[in-house]
Amino acid sequence: MQPIFIPNLLQLPERTEEFELEEFIEGLETLTPVRGSLSVTHQSTYLDVRSQAETIATLVCHRCLAHYNHRLQVDTQELIWLEAPKPDHPSADENQGDELLETLPPNGHFDPQEWLYEQLSLALPFQQVCSDDCPGIAVETPQESADVDSRWASLASLKEQLSQRED
Ligand SMILES: [Zn+2]
Repeated sequence: MQPIFIPNLLQLPERTEEFELEEFIEGLETLTPVRGSLSVTHQSTYLDVRSQAETIATLVCHRCLAHYNHRLQVDTQELIWLEAPKPDHPSADENQGDELLETLPPNGHFDPQEWLYEQLSLALPFQQVCSDDCPGIAVETPQESADVDSRWASLASLKEQLSQRED
């Protein structure tokens, strides 16, 4: 999927570009290609972008750090307003709500792969845990206990120094 030059959409039947998806998305770790469809329709003042896609993402468990597979699905629609970039008016930028709307310049490009990457990333679970009964990481490793010991040792010697000073 190459970025689309937005004005080109106006030349297409129903002003729509459609993609059949069967590809890996850069930056997204997946076991299988992303499969599904994506369409972009030019509606004069905005782009109507829709996608149904799924893949198997390879995630890292937040508890035990093991890799595991997670089925990722999106069935989504987004309107992207076509608006020329505004000149900088710092005082007029107070309205934060407007800033959250996605906009593109009418004679710019829309990158369907980047858009899909964002949608799939948003669909990732917030809590990534390999299974409900994930045992988690072994609490004590030799490395860790050695660190703790050396910290206790320096604390002990500090205590000793302090008590000597009192004498
Ligand atoms: Zn786990």
